[in-house]
Amino acid sequence: MLAILALTTSFVFFAPAPQSDGDSGALDAAIGRIVERGLASDHAFTWLTELCDDIGPRLSGSAQAEQAVEWGRARLEEAGADRVVLHPVNVARWVRGEVERARILEPADHRLAVLALGGSIATPPGGITAPVIVVKTFEELRSRASEARGKIVLFNRAMGETADDGSRKLGYGDAVQQRTNGAIEAAKVGAVASVIRSVGTKGAEYRLPHTGMMRYEDGVKRIPHAALAAEDADLIARLVARHPRVMLNLELDCRDEGTVQSHNVIADLRGRERPDEVVLICGHLDSWDVGHGAHDDGVGVVASMEVIRLLKSLDLRPRRTIRCVLFMNEENGLAGGLGYAKDYARELAGHVAAIEMDGGAFGFSGFGVSAGEGGVAMVDDVARRIRSVPGYESLRVRPGGGGADIGPLSRAGNVPMLSIDSDSETYFRYHHTHADTLDKVDPRELARHAAAYAALVYALAEMERPLPRLAAR
Ligand SMILES: [Zn+2]
Repeated sequence: MLAILALTTSFVFFAPAPQSDGDSGALDAAIGRIVERGLASDHAFTWLTELCDDIGPRLSGSAQAEQAVEWGRARLEEAGADRVVLHPVNVARWVRGEVERARILEPADHRLAVLALGGSIATPPGGITAPVIVVKTFEELRSRASEARGKIVLFNRAMGETADDGSRKLGYGDAVQQRTNGAIEAAKVGAVASVIRSVGTKGAEYRLPHTGMMRYEDGVKRIPHAALAAEDADLIARLVARHPRVMLNLELDCRDEGTVQSHNVIADLRGRERPDEVVLICGHLDSWDVGHGAHDDGVGVVASMEVIRLLKSLDLRPRRTIRCVLFMNEENGLAGGLGYAKDYARELAGHVAAIEMDGGAFGFSGFGVSAGEGGVAMVDDVARRIRSVPGYESLRVRPGGGGADIGPLSRAGNVPMLSIDSDSETYFRYHHTHADTLDKVDPRELARHAAAYAALVYALAEMERPLPRLAAR
């Protein structure tokens, strides 16, 4: 009932813009129909419920990840894709195990909230017990190398804190370095283990540790690496500032179980005039093994699928092919994105754009664009048409879109990259935590993302002249 009301009331806003020529008017009309139908649809949320509740967490290499592959294939066939294929990729299988403990033993007894980071080795049974040294940066660790030997290093740099020179607030990219490379840097100065302050939004913490990908380096000793809740990192920092010795015990029994075969799910809606030209749209099907991967990246998966379903249900078949890819292994290896760039290398010259939605669905804000000169303005011309729909007035087009899975194909083929933008401050409260569950997703907000996404994709697949390609890198 609500849906019918929304549909009726929004109709009046889709008169073609007065300055439009014939084609432009047709594009306005198509965008109007897509957005209106998308806003009235609950398909994406229904699919998300299946993915999060009926399948659950789906770390690469797990049985649930394989269930998600079969689910994605079946639903994309039902959505009306012309062809759905499973593209094999080999992924690492890492298992968290049952034991995961961090505990301050001196000067007081505190049990901490901890998650092993993906790819970490285990500690010996009983754990590693050592004094803690707290640092903010790799430079600081190197300058205090002699103090770090035999200790557990805590990297305590917060996302959202101000950079040392006061120039800006640190973002995800700054803070995540300690997660990806912390164990390498700590081992180089003789530390026995390392822990990090979880990478999440500062000022909105609920003592949740955030997991994520970490790396080792050949030739550098492998040491256990885990994430503490921000509050627990602060506790350690306060204790270390006031006491000569702070002893930490860290026990993990996570393990690597080698490599297994998995798949990207690839579904095409064939173009009516230029089927060899492709607009690739995607999210990633794998998630971390904590939470249910609702915002990361269930919403990107179901919104990408909804693009196909919406266009098919409206009988809108654009000039070019739309290819929906549900990538595997974005979180801990990127085998899906790298495998696609390699195995589809010969088709990349025909890829006119690649769009990834992997920033959650907390508050749709617009599109990010990385394209050749004039590309941002071309996308803004599409955005202008969507802005005429109530609720989309503030839709913003910014330079600099992209996504982890589409990075490799873009680099290999100079393919323009776009992203579907959302409220990242809220996203990073839940990112890679136990709390990334279905209840955090607002069905109407998800539909709002998917409807604008579908309109953008249709326009890119239909417009006479494609976006200017990126310069060779
Ligand atoms: Zn993600």
